[in-house]
Amino acid sequence: MRLVLLGPPGAGKGTQAEVLSRSHKIPAISTGDILREKIKDGSEIGKEAKKYVESGALVPDAVVIKMVKERLRSDDARAGFILDGFPRTVAQAEALDKVLNELRITLDAVLYFETSTAVILERLTGRRVCPKCRRNYHIKNIPPKRDNVCDDCGVQLIQRKDDTEDTIRRRLKVYEEETAPLVEYYEGKGSLKRVSGDLDVEELNSIIGKMFKG
Ligand code: AMP
Repeated sequence: MRLVLLGPPGAGKGTQAEVLSRSHKIPAISTGDILREKIKDGSEIGKEAKKYVESGALVPDAVVIKMVKERLRSDDARAGFILDGFPRTVAQAEALDKVLNELRITLDAVLYFETSTAVILERLTGRRVCPKCRRNYHIKNIPPKRDNVCDDCGVQLIQRKDDTEDTIRRRLKVYEEETAPLVEYYEGKGSLKRVSGDLDVEELNSIIGKMFKG
């Protein structure tokens, strides 16, 4: 299975990517997670990316394109992958087409998570993440078993720096301007499939499962 998950921040792409990754035993490739990892490590890319990520702006195309190219060429991505949060611009989509061509593979689909603004805001403000394994939780919808502690790692959950109201607003604006045009881009290629990002995790997962059965 080779999928791109497209949709606004808070559409549930990351959570769905995690579930699909576990059930299909293929990597979920989240450019946001890779960037946050690099920021934590204090690497050169991390230092450059920090100001963009924390303010809700997009990291320059060249930086993310290089990261994704490397990741798609690694062995564990050979059997399939789920791209979450990439591409986010037309230039990134074109670069992805090119690398897929070079690898002689095609996408099964681009899943577009259509999501209402009320749901987006509720999800982002209540989101908590494990700083160690990156697993996503939500204070109401996906609570951990023990209050504010990761079920898998036992460490305290954190709120992302860019999940504050002002930065969320900025991210939504950036999404509309830079990323929303990809709906038309992939519709033109005939690879876009619309799903509702408003559904809960299990419901949507079962719909996606049916789409790719057999
Ligand atoms: P996410 O975890 O997907 O919400 O991404 C968090 C932040 O990482 C975004 O607001 C951007 O600053 C940066 N980022 C993630 N993916 C990309 C991308 N494909 N292109 C540019 N910036 C990205």
